[in-house]
Amino acid sequence: AERFGADIREKLVENVDLSTRPFRCQLGGEEGVIEADSIIIATGATARWLNAPEEQAVKGNGISTCAVCDGALYMDEDVAVVGGGDTALEDALFLARFARSVTLVHRREDFRASALMLERVEQEPKITVKTFRQVQRWMHDASGLTGAVLEHPSDHTVTETLSFTGAFLAIGHDAQSTLFKDQLAMDEDGYILHTRPGSSTMTSIPGVFSCGDVSDRRYRQAVTAAGHGCQ
Ligand SMILES: Cc1cc2nc3c(=O)[nH]c(=O)nc-3n(C[C@H](O)[C@H](O)[C@H](O)COP(=O)(O)OP(=O)(O)OC[C@H]3O[C@@H](n4cnc5c(N)ncnc54)[C@H](O)[C@@H]3O)c2cc1C
Repeated sequence: AERFGADIREKLVENVDLSTRPFRCQLGGEEGVIEADSIIIATGATARWLNAPEEQAVKGNGISTCAVCDGALYMDEDVAVVGGGDTALEDALFLARFARSVTLVHRREDFRASALMLERVEQEPKITVKTFRQVQRWMHDASGLTGAVLEHPSDHTVTETLSFTGAFLAIGHDAQSTLFKDQLAMDEDGYILHTRPGSSTMTSIPGVFSCGDVSDRRYRQAVTAAGHGCQ
C-alpha cells in the first residue's frame, strides 16, 4: 500500500463525523483530525468470551473462538463447544469430522438453532449434548487446556467435571461499529448494512463503504474479508 502512496498511521480513531463533507475522523492523542471525501470501514468484529475463571490462561492454548480456523488441530482429541445457536451446532458438526468426541454445552434446554441443525447434531454419534450446563471454571496444566467444571446455571452446587483438550466458544460476536452508531444503518447486532441498491459495499451514506467482519456476520474469515475489501 505504501508503494502506491498510502499514508499509514497506527492510531486509534476516537470519533467519526459523517454528517459533514468532507467526513471527519478524530484520532487519539495529539494526532488531530483527518478529513476524507470517502471512507472505507474495516474495523472487524470481536468474538465474545465467557470470562470464566482461568480463561485467560488458556486463551489460544486450548480455547478458541473459531472452529473452522483451529478445528483441525484437534484431530482424534476430545473437544467441547459452548453455545446454542446455529453457529455452535454448525461448529459441533464440523469438529465431529476431526475430533474423537464433541460435547456441546448449552445453558438452556431450548436451542436457538434451527430444528434441522439440531436433528443433524442428534444424529451424529460423536456429539454429546449437555443442556442446563455452563462453564464454572476451566482446567489446565502445563500443556494447556485439560477440561472444565460445568455447573447448572441456576444451581451452582450441581457440578460435573469434563475432560477435553479443545474448547470452542460460539456465543456470538460484536461488530466493532460503535463509532458509527446512529450514523449508519446497522442490523440489531451492530453489523453495518449495505443499503444502496446494486452495491455490496456502500453503506447508507454515499461515499462511506464497509467491508470484512464489521459487515459480515456469516463468514468472518480473512479470505472473505480481503475479498470483500477488493470489491
Ligand atoms: C483465533 C482466530 C483464528 C482465525 N483464523 C483464521 C484462519 O485460519 N483463516 C481465516 O480465513 N480467518 C481466520 N480468522 C478470522 C479472521 O481473522 C477475520 O475474519 C479477519 O481478520 C477479518 O478481517 P477484517 O479486516 O474485517 O477485521 P480485523 O482483522 O479484525 O481488523 C480490524 C482492524 O481494525 C482496527 N480497529 C478497530 N477499531 C478501530 C478504531 N477505532 N481505530 C483504529 N483501528 C481500529 C483493529 O485494531 C484491527 O486492526 C480467525 C479469527 C480468530 C479469532
